[in-house]
Amino acid sequence: MLMTTEPTNSPYRTVEEAYTRAGTSSSNLKVDPDRRGDADVLIAAGWSPGMLGGALMRLRGEWDSVAHQRRNHPDADAVHLLARLRSLAQVLEAVERWATAKHLADARTLARTSVCYWLDPTCRACLGRGAALVPGTPMLGRVCKACGGSRKAREPLGQDGRRTLNMLDDCVGRRNQSMKKRLHVSMHRG
Ligand SMILES: [Zn+2]
Repeated sequence: MLMTTEPTNSPYRTVEEAYTRAGTSSSNLKVDPDRRGDADVLIAAGWSPGMLGGALMRLRGEWDSVAHQRRNHPDADAVHLLARLRSLAQVLEAVERWATAKHLADARTLARTSVCYWLDPTCRACLGRGAALVPGTPMLGRVCKACGGSRKAREPLGQDGRRTLNMLDDCVGRRNQSMKKRLHVSMHRG
């Protein structure tokens, strides 16, 4: 969403302030947030792509352990399970700030929906089987109509959803790159 005028309560002001505090040259302040790179926007919001990538990896680990618990204790309390996603709140906050600075519509919903899809893109119609069950049997029948056999649900929220998912993947990619580099350095030191 492009805005031609800035409302007084715009988060843009906060982004500018963050830039000023970070000591970035004033010429950068004139760049439209929509045109700034994701990394710049994240840094202005107090994050870096590597930090968000790290938080996402932690969240993925927490999610996996919750999913494992859910399989072994199907009647476990949902609140108890969700409380184990300790990294969820900070990830959502970072993504929402990024989306707000990018002037994407409905930043909060976008953040929640995209992060949930990123964690679990499983097609709900076939529960990731890729095919419908033959009624009354455990056998797989026709290809799932919802996902066409891909086992994945359709990506949510169109263009904005795609941009958000790209940003998340990019952060994880950068995180992995820097982990590899660190490992490489420590291996070649001794
Ligand atoms: Zn499906």
